[in-house]
Order: sequence, then C-alpha cells, then structure tokens
Amino acid sequence: MSDRVITLRQARTNNLAAIDLDVPRNQLVVFVGRSGSGKSSLVFDTIAAEAGYQLNETYPPFARNRLPKWKRPEVEHIDGLTPVIVVDQRRIGGNARSTVGTTTDSWTYLRLLFSRLSEPYVGESNRFSFNDPSGMCPVCSGLGEVVVSAVERFLDLDKSLADGAIRLPGFGPGKYWHAQYADIGSFDADTPLRDWTPGEREALLYGGHAAARLGRKLPKDYEGVVERFERVYLHTADNLSERKQETIRRFTRSAVCAECAGERLAADARTATVRGRTIGALAQLEITELLEYVRAIDEPAVAPVVSALVGRLEAMVTIGLGYLALARATTTLSGGESQRIKTVKHLGSSLTELTYVVDEPTVGLHPTDVDSMIALLEQLRDSGNSVLVVEHDPAVMRRADQIVEVGPGAGDGGGRVVFQGTYDELLQADTPTGRALRREVAGEPQNGKRGTKPLEAGGDETAGSERAAGERLGRAARGVVVAGAELGGRGGGELVVRGASRNNLRGVTVGVPSSGMTVLTGVAGSGKSSLAAEFVAQHGAVVVDQAGVGGGRRSTPVTYTGIAAAIRKLFAQRNNVSPALFSANSAGACPECRGLGVVYTDLAFLEGQEVVCPECAGRRFTSAVLEYTVGGYSIADVDRLTIEQAIAELPDAAIARGLQQLAAVGLGYLRLGQSLNTLSGGECQRVKIAKELRVAEPGTAYVLDEPTTGLHLDDIATLLGVLDRLVERGHAVLVVEHNLEVIRRADWLIDLGPGPGRHGGTVLYEGRPEAYRGWGTPTSRALDGVRDH
Ligand code: ADP
Ligand code: ADP
Ligand code: ZN
Ligand code: ZN
Repeated sequence: MSDRVITLRQARTNNLAAIDLDVPRNQLVVFVGRSGSGKSSLVFDTIAAEAGYQLNETYPPFARNRLPKWKRPEVEHIDGLTPVIVVDQRRIGGNARSTVGTTTDSWTYLRLLFSRLSEPYVGESNRFSFNDPSGMCPVCSGLGEVVVSAVERFLDLDKSLADGAIRLPGFGPGKYWHAQYADIGSFDADTPLRDWTPGEREALLYGGHAAARLGRKLPKDYEGVVERFERVYLHTADNLSERKQETIRRFTRSAVCAECAGERLAADARTATVRGRTIGALAQLEITELLEYVRAIDEPAVAPVVSALVGRLEAMVTIGLGYLALARATTTLSGGESQRIKTVKHLGSSLTELTYVVDEPTVGLHPTDVDSMIALLEQLRDSGNSVLVVEHDPAVMRRADQIVEVGPGAGDGGGRVVFQGTYDELLQADTPTGRALRREVAGEPQNGKRGTKPLEAGGDETAGSERAAGERLGRAARGVVVAGAELGGRGGGELVVRGASRNNLRGVTVGVPSSGMTVLTGVAGSGKSSLAAEFVAQHGAVVVDQAGVGGGRRSTPVTYTGIAAAIRKLFAQRNNVSPALFSANSAGACPECRGLGVVYTDLAFLEGQEVVCPECAGRRFTSAVLEYTVGGYSIADVDRLTIEQAIAELPDAAIARGLQQLAAVGLGYLRLGQSLNTLSGGECQRVKIAKELRVAEPGTAYVLDEPTTGLHLDDIATLLGVLDRLVERGHAVLVVEHNLEVIRRADWLIDLGPGPGRHGGTVLYEGRPEAYRGWGTPTSRALDGVRDH
C-alpha cells in the first residue's frame, strides 16, 4: 500500500474515461475543470464514495444500516484512502434543535462557563442545555417555539354550518363531527357565520366560558372547535398519519414560546448570570461582541474553557461569520454559511489523517473573505489531513499545493485528467483552465464581446463627485451617480424597492432597471439575499435557483422540452409506419418493462431494487421496432445522443427548436435520455433559464442567487450570454454575485454594506459598475484590483 498518495486506477464512474491518478496526501489539492467535466464524479462519486463504502464495511451490519449509504464507484483499483469527511453546501437543515452554537460546540463551552461561574450557582452544565431534560423549557421542550392553532384559517365566514363553514377535515356536512355543531340547536346552522355575533362565533370555537357569558345553552359535553382540534391533532401521543400532518401544517403556525420567550431554557437557567449577562442574552449577541465579553473573563479556574471558546469564536470571525449569533437556528443559514460552519466544526477536531473533501468553499464569499477561507483549509492540512477541494476561484488555485484539471470538455468530451501540477505550471498549460487563467491575468474579458453596450450616461468625468455622493449613501446619491440620465438599463423604466427592512436592511429604497442586468454585491451577511427577497415580494419576480429541476427520475431532456411527439413523428414518416409504434405505452414497447427500460425487484428483506430490464437490455422497445431507423439511429439510440448530436443528426425543425434552448445555455453535452436528477445545481439553474427563454411573459423580472456557483470561467461566459438574452427580451434580471466578471458586465450595480449583520444593511453605491472606482469599499477595492493586473 502506497504511503503518501491516494492511488486510483481505471476510474470509470459516470463520464470518467478510465482515469489513472495519484493524489498526494497531506496536501491541499484543488480540482478544476469545466462544469460537467467530471470533477464531482472523480472527487465525490469515486474517492469519497469508496472511502465511505470501505469505512461502512468495518461496522457490523446493524450499525451499517444507520450509516449513510455509499454507492460503490466504478474503479479497478484504489488505495491509500483515509476516512473521508465531506464538507458540502448542503444546508445543515432539518433539525430545529440545532443552532450555530450547538453545531460548532461553542454552546458546550458557554454552558461549562455558566456551570462554574454563574450567579446564583447553578451547578451542572446540562442545566444550560436546551436539548437536555434538566435544562429545557418545559413548555416548548427546548425548541423556543410552539405550535399554535391558526384559528383565523378554521372558518369560512361566508358559509353557514350547513354549507360547511368549518374548514377542518371531519367537521364538514356529512362528516364525523358535523352533527355536534350543526344539529345541537345551540347555533343557527343556516346563517352564514359572518352574520353571527362575535360572541356566538367565540362560543362555537371555544365553548365553555364564552357560552356562559352569552347566556346560551350548550350541551354539557360540548367541546369547542379549537379545543377539539387541539385535543385530536396537537395534544396526542399517537403517531400521526401523513394526512393528519398535512392538516396540522395547514391549520397551525409556530409562535415564539411565551414561557421562555424563545430562549429555549428552563427558568433557573434563564435567570442565572455571569458578569451580569444571562446565557440567553449572550446567545443573541453577534459573535464578534460575544468574543469581547468572553476574552474579558479572567478567572483562572475556567481558563481552559475560555481559551477553547475563544478559539471557536475566533475561527468563526476569521471565516467571515462574526455577524451571526449563537442562537441562530442552522435551518435559516444559507448554503455557503452552512458550509463554513461545518468547516469551523472540523477545525476543532484533534483527529488527523482524515481526508476532507470540500465543495466550492468560496461560494457566498466576497473576494475579501476568500483569503480567510483558504487560511482555514491550510490549517486543516497543516494539522495533518489531506484536503481535496473542487473550486473555480483562481484565488484558491494560487494557494494549492497541487492542481488537477479534469476535462477538456463536459460529459463525454471530458472525463480525463488533462493537467496535474502547480499553479505556475497551469498558467503555462494548454488546457481550458490554463487558457482562462492567462486571459484573467492579462485582464482581458473572459467572454469576448458583449451583445449590447450599456447606455452612455454619467461617464468617467463624474467620478469625483460620485465619490462624494457615495459618502452620503443610498438613493440620494443617484442623481449624481447617473448624472440625471436614465438608470443603467437598456431603455425602459425602473422597478423601485421601497423601504426594505427585512432582516438587517435599514429602510432601503433602490431602483432596479426594468430592462437590464443588475448585480447586488456586498460582503456575506450584508443583506443581499434579504434585499433580493424584498424585491421578489414587492415585484413578484421569478426566482431561478439551483434546486433540482424536479419531475422525478423519468424527467429527461426529451420530456422536459416536449419533443417526444416530434421524434415519434419523424420515425413514423421516415419508415412509413404508425407513430404509435414508437410510444412507450403502445404495442411497440418492451412487454417485460412496459417501455421503462428497467424493472423493479422486490425482495422480501431488502429494499426494492431497480435493475436494467433483462428482456430489452434497457432499450425499451421490441426488437421489431428497433429495426426502424432515422439516419442510422434506432429509437433507442436516440436516447443516447447528446443534444448537440441530435440537433445535427435528426432532420427535423421541431426537434431542433425544442433542443436549441438547452444547447444555448451550454448543456449541449447532455444525452436525450439522461435523467435530469443527475444534474448539478448550476446545470439545473441553466435548465430553468432555458425554460424561461421559452415561456417568459413580457415584463417578467428574474432573481438569481449566485448563478456562477459550480461554473468554470468558460461556463460563466455561457451564463452571461444567456442572461444577456433575457435582458435583450426586455426582462429585468437581478443577480446576487461575488464574481467580478459578472459584476463588471452588469448594467447596474447595487452595493450593500459596509459590514455584515447590523453593521450592514445600507446601500453603499448604486450606479454603473465601471464608475465604482477608488471608493475604498470592499467591492470597489476588489474591482480596482482586477484593473491593476
Ligand atoms: P463536474 O463536477 O465537473 O461539474 P460531474 O462529475 O458532475 O461534473 O459530471 C460529469 C458528467 O457525468 C456530466 O456529463 C454529468 O451529466 C454526468 N453525470 C453526473 N452524475 C451522473 C449520474 N449519476 N448518472 C449519469 N451521468 C452522470
Ligand atoms: P447576504 O445575502 O448579503 O449574505 P443576508 O440577506 O442573507 O445577507 O443576511 C443579512 C443579515 O440578516 C445577516 O445578519 C443574517 O444573519 C440575517 N438573517 C438572514 N436570514 C435570517 C433569518 N431567517 N433570521 C434571522 N436573521 C437572518
Ligand atoms: Zn419555551
Ligand atoms: Zn424491457
């Protein structure tokens, strides 16, 4: 077994072309390449998957069932692996008990501090744990919130009881509980509830006291609608069916727990103080402020605890998360924030010889925060681990011990190692990344000429007065910045966001060109997503995110673009037979799998397994149907064509038209039959943009949150081209971005800041990106830096 390398031979996972590769251990190795080239297939689906699989094998079977399932990669030989930790951008999500404090272990240290120092002396540190029965608030069980009836949704006031005024399931006409309200003679069942007195409605909902006040008789065992709903649905120990849970979602909402005011803790833990502060108050502080408080604690007895806690908090500040509070629920963190939190968690680990596999750690980071992120990765390496990073940011490549480029193209055009070496060597290399880096260093635009020049307005000569205006901040500066001209769009008006105060925004009012690309910038936590959300709320924009395309496993480029009928027709015409023959639910389909290409085996003790249909070998049609061809391709061969090939080889305008949009967003390498749920986030986002290019209503506004995530420098060119098309069709496009190339290509720039959290939330600049020079703000400095090359 080789000592200091991970050795791979003949790796064939997904599109990998029988790769042989030696990856040095205990180094920072960065994997680059165009989107779809095979980086994830290599790093996640091969190296991490095999390590995970082997680790699972060391556990007894009953434990294995509880571990994440790893699909074994297609690789002939692999060794030198150490246990792998995947640090991806998946949100920490799910668990309402998890906060920034608990996931980073900071909370554990803070509890220890309180157990030793607090007044009155409380004792055990578990008394400060909201996940421990001895510490949790008894009312909300440590969740800080409670589920309450959304009573306003219970009744339809325009209906009478006989018409079904009670919306809850089980209460309508003919249902189980209906008679107990409509037929007891206490209520007028035929009058719409709107015409009842408020007291009558209250009696219906709450029974008891309300009815007594009314002087109206209710049956002795009467139970109000709310009481009954809460008894049956909320205060029950039964396992609730999916349908009951859906009812609960519809008719309840969460509210801050009245007992603990959201602090999650029992009374004695809430009131105990250290240096005059309760643990709940400390949990609400920004980490930067908490750090000052903790540093000031000098009691020798707790010195080790203080130093461990300071270490954690400092790491979070370093990584650009000093604006968060320990009480923040991890479910509300962005993907980039979640990933950085996970990195901090591992920094505290004293384990060595681990392999960290990190997916684009710079996502969500302003250029000024990227350096700190790299420093953390280096720290992981220096404490004796291997760090494998998938990245597109040249700043990370520059600090790598070694770079591996996968490529040269995407899909079948990629899957090979086209470069392995240092950054300086990559600068000389004739590979897509090498060429893109040379262009970047030379300060050339990555993307050739742009489609439309922005309107001329303002101009360089106003730069001095802009700077002065910028110091006054915000909308007032606009008159000077654009020198009285239109906004920086390509004609058209503006969409104004008024008085935005979501999260940390301080009553922000900005204009977004209704036809143009606007970029929203600022350090992480400055309020970009909050402003984008406010824009969506005020103008009903379409959010084009990177979530999966949906439609399940059966969704492919063919189903997605709706070209299936055109393909059937083409085959029918060319072969002079019925189009129905080529339909997956006709006599032409394989009888064994009914045209699915796969069959399910349902073994008694194992999970259902999907296997390739033994009858048709996945080709989905009878051999008779497969005899018919167009241009030498059978109907089954068509599934294996790439979009680009199909456009070139299938002589049909309707098919080409359907596929053109996907090719135009740079996805021409996908196969017609490839399941869309195998796509990466960036690919999904482009599929969605392709769809919008097809269906957009005039005047639609679009919001994209960091669309360059997962994109190689060359792919960013494609993306910008696609966004240009949307703008050329007269749409407003609002993009949250850190990528300087995108910022420089925008028609209009809104920069938020100056800092994160409550140190941000104001507009530092609105105007053309090219005029944002020498302002000294983080974004302006980053833009200046590019020009300095
Ligand atoms: P990258 O990480 O470089 O963007 P990937 O490794 O995700 O690239 O993808 C490489 C190629 O393999 C792409 O053409 C992609 O569509 C394809 N691919 C990825 N996952 C699967 C899968 N589960 N099944 C089939 N093809 C896949
Ligand atoms: P950006 O997009 O610039 O990174 P955000 O708009 O996400 O910034 O966040 C701005 C501020 O609002 C930050 O301090 C962040 O922690 C806070 N914030 C964002 N979402 C929430 C939320 N759901 N609950 C509480 N605070 C939030
Ligand atoms: Zn509570
Ligand atoms: Zn079959």
